[in-house]
Parts: sequence; structure tokens; C-alpha cells
Amino acid sequence: MAGITWHYVLKFIITGDAGVGKSSLLIRLTDQRFLANPDPTLGVEFGSKLIKIPDEEKIVKLQCWDTAGTESFRSITRSYYRGAAGCLLVYDVTSRASFIHAQSWLDDVREHADPHLTCILIGNKVDLCEGEMEGSTSRRREVSADEAEKWAKKEGMLFLEASAKSGRNVESAFEQASRDILHKI
Ligand code: GDP
Repeated sequence: MAGITWHYVLKFIITGDAGVGKSSLLIRLTDQRFLANPDPTLGVEFGSKLIKIPDEEKIVKLQCWDTAGTESFRSITRSYYRGAAGCLLVYDVTSRASFIHAQSWLDDVREHADPHLTCILIGNKVDLCEGEMEGSTSRRREVSADEAEKWAKKEGMLFLEASAKSGRNVESAFEQASRDILHKI
């Protein structure tokens, strides 16, 4: 969408445990690619992209900050919560621990971000569970979509399962969150 102006600039933060795929989701969004062995996230990375919001006739410029997933970086990343309109809270559907830890990431967001911030819970790496309908690889999934959706609802978050590897639901996640934000403006 080069040369196109935008109606809104929205700051997003991407948070969650190290290794859940935050950088990969950002790379997929902005670059349409996937790296099997990306550089470990150090500090904060930034990506920008224009997206058209379906049914809204609005172009949004996303400014996305990928916050590092380790405890030791929390003091650095906290300042990045300020001014954020949206948050992708990411866990890995094959890691129960990353889902459990999502609660403390959400607590952090609630403590430091704008109370009206739109949060979307993302169960990433769903490609690893593909074929589970046939029962072949279902043991790799450690969090059901049903459980995650219930928790998201209870906490007032949107929810999607996604894959940075296949690209499934990556743009959709930002579109749905952006649409929610625009409805609040
Ligand atoms: P971060 O620490 O949260 O930023 O996670 P990374 O983006 O660095 O990803 C950690 C590892 O998971 C890397 O080896 C990625 O290639 C892999 N990964 C990330 N997203 C996906 C995904 O959707 N599917 C699969 N199969 N692997 C993924």
C-alpha cells in the first residue's frame, strides 16, 4: 500500500513468554516470511505495517513493539506499554506453561497500560497441531482452544489461534483488534 495515507496510527505491543513466537508473528505481519531459527529476541524490536480494516473503509498504520519475553527484560519493556492501543498476548498452544504465565503478562499489561487497551489472546504455533482431527499429532497440543477462549472472555480479551509459520490468522488478529480499537474511538 505504498503511497497510501492512513486514517489512524495504532501502537501495539506483543507480549508473552520467550519462545512463544512474538518476533515470528511480527516478521510474518510485516515481511510475510517465517524463520525457523530467528535471532533470539534482545530487548525490543519494532515493525510497522499498513492494514485495511474490512467493513470500516479505514487504513490503519500499525506500529508494533515486540517486547522481550524474559523476566530480566521486564523493567525495560514496561515503559513500552505506555501509549499502546492494542496488545497481542501470545502463548504457545503446545506449551501449557506459556499459557499459565500469560496471566502474569496480562497483570503487567493491566498495571502499566491504558485501562481501555484492547487485548487479543493469541494461541500461536497451531500448525504443530494440524492433523489432530485425525488423531496423529494431538498430543503436542497442551491448551485447548475452548479453555483459552473461556479465559479470554473472562478477562475481556479477544481470542484467536494463529500460526506465524503458516501465516494463519496473523493479519486477522491485528485487524480484529484494530476494529475493536476503532469502535472505542
Ligand atoms: P519469541 O521469543 O517469543 O520472540 O519467539 P520467536 O519468534 O523467536 O520463536 C521461537 C521459536 O519458535 C523459533 O524457533 C520459531 O521459528 C518458532 N516459531 C515461532 N512461531 C511459530 C509457529 O507459528 N509455528 C512453529 N511451528 N514454530 C514457530
